[in-house]
Amino acid sequence: MNYLQFDRTCAQAISLAENSHNLIAVFDAAGCLRYANEAFRAAYFIEKDENPLWCEMMRRNFDRRQGIVIRTGDFDAWMTATQSRRGKTGFRAFEADLHDGRWLWMTETAQANGWMLCIANDITSLRADERSLRQDRDFAIRASETDDLTGIANRRFVMERLDDLLAAHSPVTRRALGGCLAVLDIDNFKYINDRFGHHVGDVVLRNFARKILANVRLTDCFGRVSGEEFALVMPSADGREATLIIERMLAVIRETAPLEEMPAFRYSFSAGIAFALEGDTRSDLYRRADQALYAAKMSGRNRVEVDAR
Ligand code: GH3
Ligand code: MG
Ligand code: MG
Repeated sequence: MNYLQFDRTCAQAISLAENSHNLIAVFDAAGCLRYANEAFRAAYFIEKDENPLWCEMMRRNFDRRQGIVIRTGDFDAWMTATQSRRGKTGFRAFEADLHDGRWLWMTETAQANGWMLCIANDITSLRADERSLRQDRDFAIRASETDDLTGIANRRFVMERLDDLLAAHSPVTRRALGGCLAVLDIDNFKYINDRFGHHVGDVVLRNFARKILANVRLTDCFGRVSGEEFALVMPSADGREATLIIERMLAVIRETAPLEEMPAFRYSFSAGIAFALEGDTRSDLYRRADQALYAAKMSGRNRVEVDAR
């Protein structure tokens, strides 16, 4: 296709989208709205020249009780849970209702570079009893992918993302090797529990999940694997990039004061990074990241080590 044909096709595509009754929107890797057709802007209360971040748009509508109905008393917890899953799988579909009474069938298609296409159809005319059954099912699926204590993705969800990363490397799809796994483990956590009590341990776990999640890119997936151990799946990061990301997180946690009643209290974590190799299983890759984590613990904690292979 030459430039002229390309320009004409783009102009036609936009004109078709503008006139569609479906809601259509495109978000970039930072979660910023780059395109929305009129139906989308009307449903989400977005002005024509406005390009909000997805999280800003959702918060504003939640506060004004407009747009998508969000059933939660704790908007921040809802946002944490949603952001830890949004854009992590290539394709996601679910039902949502609008405050104006309409029901939508929402789809999200994410690209490896973090851009996302959202398309929603109006399904208000479908049977109400079936709709609520499906919404209950979607709710149950979300619960099965979420860690109760911290609200971020749980072990099941991150391990599935690890499988996605390895599947993309299988000889069948012939994709180039790349991507890595980081295992993050809070330092001396048993001491924190023993010294200040289990409740304080839980506060630190929640603080850690929230602080790290705020520094995770849309393409990466962060979740709690067990106790005080977390995993970060980075499908497209190279060694330098992954190390820089973890070092930034180490710096953030070093400066964090998680306990209001003890403003001087600080904690740290250690991390191990391993890269996906041809023929790796989930447990091969996890074992190498765990060995790198052990090396970080042995060389003094509060640092990151990279598996040498
Ligand atoms: P290291 O620096 O070597 O990682 O030492 P550590 O003390 O962090 O590691 P260890 O594995 O010895 O202790 C982990 C502790 O985490 C033990 C367990 O009681 C506690 N733990 C596990 N799950 C939870 C939880 O959900 N809440 C709280 N408060 N503690 C938990
Ligand atoms: Mg630990
Ligand atoms: Mg541990």
